[in-house]
Formats: sequence, C-alpha cells, structure tokens
Amino acid sequence: MKAQPPASHFIDGEYVEDIDGTAFDSIYPATGEVIARLHAATPAIVEKAIAAAKRAQPAWAAMSPTARGRILRRAAEIMRERNRELSELETLDTGKPIQETIVADPTSGADAFEFFGGVAAAALNGDYIPLGGDFAFTKRVPLGVCVGIGAWNYPQQIACWKGAPALVAGNAMVFKPSENTPLGALKIAEILIEAGLPKGLYNVIQGDRTTGPLLVNHRQVAKVSLTGSVETGKKVAGAAASSLKHVTMELGGKSPLIVFDDADLESAIGGAMLGNFYSTGQVCSNGTRVFVQKGIRDRFLSRLKERTEKIVIGDPMDEATQLGPMVSRAQLDKVFSYIEKGKAEGATLLTGGGIPNNVSAEGTYIQPTVFADVTDEMTICREEIFGPVMCVLDFDNEEEVIARANGTEFGLSAGVFTSDLTRAHRVVDQLEAGTLWINTYNLAPVEVPFGGSKQSGFGRENSLAALNHYTELKSVYVAMGKVEAPY
Ligand code: NAD
Repeated sequence: MKAQPPASHFIDGEYVEDIDGTAFDSIYPATGEVIARLHAATPAIVEKAIAAAKRAQPAWAAMSPTARGRILRRAAEIMRERNRELSELETLDTGKPIQETIVADPTSGADAFEFFGGVAAAALNGDYIPLGGDFAFTKRVPLGVCVGIGAWNYPQQIACWKGAPALVAGNAMVFKPSENTPLGALKIAEILIEAGLPKGLYNVIQGDRTTGPLLVNHRQVAKVSLTGSVETGKKVAGAAASSLKHVTMELGGKSPLIVFDDADLESAIGGAMLGNFYSTGQVCSNGTRVFVQKGIRDRFLSRLKERTEKIVIGDPMDEATQLGPMVSRAQLDKVFSYIEKGKAEGATLLTGGGIPNNVSAEGTYIQPTVFADVTDEMTICREEIFGPVMCVLDFDNEEEVIARANGTEFGLSAGVFTSDLTRAHRVVDQLEAGTLWINTYNLAPVEVPFGGSKQSGFGRENSLAALNHYTELKSVYVAMGKVEAPY
C-alpha cells in the first residue's frame, strides 16, 4: 500500500519539496509498512510558507465574508463527494478502522467548512453603539497569519477545525500536522485550492517538535492553535507568550464519566465503551475514569466485560473491524507500560491487557482493556494514557463522586449517566470541565463549542465561539460635532 504525496509540503497553492529537510517515513500502523517518505520542513520552507500566507491574506480579508464562505462550502461538498477516498487515506495515516473514518473524519472536517462557510455572512458583523449624538461601532477583524499544529488522532478533522474558522474570518493559515500522520492535511490543502481558495491561504508544512517552534516563534505569526498534550501546550503557550501571540490550546484530559445506580445500564456501558475504545482510545475527551455507583457495580462490570470481549479487532480496511491498531509503536509501548503500572499498583485487570492474536505481528495492536477496583491515587487514574484502557472506580454518593471527579489537574470533559434529570443538571453544574455530556458521551458536533478548562487548555473550537479566537475587535468612535478642547 502506498500513499506517497507528490511532495512533503503544500505552499502557495502547490506541492513543494526540500530534500535538505530530515527524511521521515509515514507508517501504516496495521502492518508496519512504509506508505510514504517525507521531509521535515527546513527553515527555508517555514519562511516560504509564512511569506506566502502573509502575501495572500490582505486580499482575502478584503473579500466579503459571504464570498469567503462560499469557497469553504464548496470545499465541504468536495470532501463529501470524496469521503471514501479521504477516509481510506485517514485510515492509512492513523490505523483507525474505516468503519469509523467513513463517518467521523472527513465528514467532521466537511461539517466545519460547511458550518463556518454558512455562518460567515452573519457572524462577522460588528456592533453599533449609540452615544447620544456621537456613536461608535466595532469591526471584527482577522488576526493575520495563524499557525495550526495538530495531534495524530484526528488529522483531517483537526486540519479543518482550525482551518475553517481561521479562513472564514479572513486569516491565512500555516498548518503543521503531527509527524505521525502527515498525509491528510495535504489533501485538505489540495481540496481548498480546487474549491477556489486563492493560493497561499492554507499551507501545510511537515515536521516534528523541532519544527513547531520555528512557527510558534515567528514574528509574522499572529496566532497559534495547538492540539496536543499538556506538556507541549505549556511549551507552545510559553513561547507564544514571549511575543504575545493569541493562542488556543486543545490539550489532554483524564475525564470522569459518572454512572449512577438509576442509569440505563446498557446505554451507560455503551457510552463508557465509546468513550474509551473509539479510535483505539486515542481521543482527548475520553471518559477514562468511569465512576460506577456501588449498587450497579457488579452488573456493570459483567456486561462491560462481555461486550468488550466481543469487539472486532482486525484489518482497519475491513468494514467489520471495530478496533484498529495504535498510531505508532512508541504509543503502543507507552500504553503497555501503563497496563503494567495498573497491575503493579493493585488494580484488577477485568479484560484485555495483551496483544490480540488475530492480527499482523508488525501491527501496533492492543486488546481493549478494562481495569476494575481502580483507586484515585493510582497512576493509571491520574495520567492520560491515550489508549484503549478504561479505569472503573466505585463510589457511594453524589457529593463524594463530584469531589473525586474534580480531583485532577485536567478539565477537558465529563459525563453523567442517570435517569434523574435534576441530578444530571446538578452534577454537571459542579463538574470542572469545558465539554460535558448527559446520558451520552463524546459527541462533538460543529454547532457546539469544544474545549477544555484547567490544564486541558483554553479557547474553544467549533461553534460561533471559535470565531472570537480567530478575530479581534476594532472599536471606532465617530464624533458628529466639533472637538471641544479646554486649551
Ligand atoms: P504532542 O503534544 O506530542 O504533539 C502535538 C503536536 O505538537 C505535534 O504536531 C508535534 O509535532 C507538535 N509539537 C511538539 N512539541 C512542540 C513544540 N515544542 N513546539 C511546537 N510544536 C510542538 O501530542 P500528540 O501525541 O500528537 O497527541 C496526543 C495528545 O493530544 C494527547 O495529550 C491528547 O489528549 C491531545 N489531544 C487533544 C485534543 C483536544 O481537542 N483537546 C484533541 C486531540 C488530541
């Protein structure tokens, strides 16, 4: 299987190569096969991308939001027409099963282009402020050149979730995908050009943690939006602060999912499984600390085990496969090391914890894993694992579980399953998280703001709220009379 793009980078409307950059391979995690060889951006490539963005942005910003939106909506249509092709590429890039990518990846990216393309005409208006004769008005203006830096779990979605609001607001973007998943964003850049986006407005350059700082520290960059780990977030936010750049930080989590005795058991188990095993557990908002009230603990665990052991693991290109490999061997090793810590610290391994036996030995597969009898202080309960490892904890009452759920430095998401509506609202009100669910988990439609609190980040993606993070306000005072000066 090959997925070699014409060149490593996409700048100013075309593919560009610079073989002086460090070569790196793109690996299909299901087989370990090299599917493409690329080069990280050299400083010259970074300069070229930022210069192209800087050059293209003023004319784009001068277009009407309606005209900009039309181009993004066309891009959404093209993405939907090519959903299968893009989903296959996403599967090759990440190892996620086609069953998922076909419904959750390019389609979610297309949703962003469609949503922001659609709202552009109305959502970028300013305010009129009457001042008794004089008046003022505000304009929502773009920031200029924005940098997007992506994680490897949702490469196409992240490229679009950052690109769509940035572009519709009149900015230009330089996007750097994760070095683990370099392919999808290049296709998004191609499609945007095909949809009519003027060249230079959406550029993609490759690279890793040594390339990112070249973008973050660049003096012509106005804003950085990162999706990544908390550790990287601190570095990027710190670097951006030294030149006072705008930042959006979409970082990691260790989110609580609370299941009360009165919950619909099958729904709650389904939610917990989706919130731990979808995308092989590589989802930032996953509800990895599943708090189950003691009255239903045993029934919950026995049905969870039964359902987890039926998950179909295998070739990600097979439509029947429900769980693919981890994105990389490094990530797989990291997850196994957490499984060992869980066992050593006394958690009960309910199911999983090993390598499935029906897959390629070269693939980076792992069984969906559930630990029971987990306690708050265990490492597997405190640190983000970013793999298909669910921790189940017991609790007695509401007050206790809220305090324990909030006992983390993260604050990305949280979920509650209960049939008591009043309790559901009372609990979510007290949970410290940016994105919360009642009686479901991990749904993130474009209409709803998405993002974290505490160390999980700041700023929001999706919804009209995202536009605030890609624009700033200009206030204009208009005097209707003469200036009265005391001198
Ligand atoms: P990572 O932090 O290792 O890397 C993220 C990106 O940052 C990569 O493109 C990487 O090359 C780049 N990078 C690394 N160091 C950098 C630096 N010093 N300066 C600039 N760029 C740098 O994260 P990952 O392993 O790719 O992804 C997994 C993490 O992402 C998890 O913690 C997960 O929770 C988080 N995540 C968050 C969200 C969200 O929306 N909140 C979504 C997906 C993933």
